[in-house]
Amino acid sequence: MLRVALPAKGRLAEQALLLFERAGLKAESRTERALMAPLGRDFQAIFLRAQDIPEFLADGAADVGVTGADLVAESGQEVIELLDLEFGRCRLAVAVREDSPVQRAADIPPETRVATSFPRVTSAFFHGIGIPVRVASVSGSAEIAPHLGVADVIVDLVSTGATLKVNRLREVAVILESSARLLANPGSLHDPRKGPAIRELNAALESVIRAKAKRYLMANVPRRRLAEVKAVIPGLTGPTIVEIQNGGGGDWVAAHSVVDADRIYETIVRLKALGAEGILVTAIERLMP
Ligand code: AMP
Repeated sequence: MLRVALPAKGRLAEQALLLFERAGLKAESRTERALMAPLGRDFQAIFLRAQDIPEFLADGAADVGVTGADLVAESGQEVIELLDLEFGRCRLAVAVREDSPVQRAADIPPETRVATSFPRVTSAFFHGIGIPVRVASVSGSAEIAPHLGVADVIVDLVSTGATLKVNRLREVAVILESSARLLANPGSLHDPRKGPAIRELNAALESVIRAKAKRYLMANVPRRRLAEVKAVIPGLTGPTIVEIQNGGGGDWVAAHSVVDADRIYETIVRLKALGAEGILVTAIERLMP
């Protein structure tokens, strides 16, 4: 059995479960209070606080897990990062009051008080740029500190920037970019029994992530425009061209291809300009090139 540490609640919890489900590993009987659930195959989910997951992984209490890159960095624990899961995106940023003369991190005077719930990463950042600051560790709501006179600078997670704006704060530097990551205990990854299962899990999750950015497109196109059609929908290894059996009299063929989801509108316009008809676009569940 492999233990998979997943966030019990918070921003990452729901999307982590959904991703595993799409990869064919659905948590059975996940009730609010259950701390464990079988995921199918050889995997057992254990539900933990997102910030505790790096430590459980480093200890070997869990073999693989999902949590934010920011929390891994702050934990200082030895874990192996396998995959960027591309949700829970945010950045750990340095911010000052809107009316502050500080424009860049380098303008921050020595001995400034910095409020943050990321004291380790914050200290390392200011050490790295050679500014000695006084880090005040808070467990949340760092945004309020500058207005209470507790600190002049904060280091906090920013996603849309709305929270900074509401609190009249201005971002002056980004310390790190974060998103949810698939992580492994180094020993488990090198274990001859566990390693292959971890790599299979990695490949399954990666195929789901890759598929999300793609669509499968099918269209009937005039055979004489095939060269141009190929240029519009090159796909992974060139489009699949299929003969149409009835009707068409050989003037038409069906072209199938994997296309970028964010360019689908433009792609359809270009295919129509080439005379394409019967255009069909579908989602892809998994993509393993
Ligand atoms: P926003 O207003 O969208 O910039 O979000 C900022 C607020 O949400 C701050 O209080 C952050 O601590 C929190 N936040 C944003 N993104 C994340 C994340 N990925 N994980 C945890 N907290 C986050």
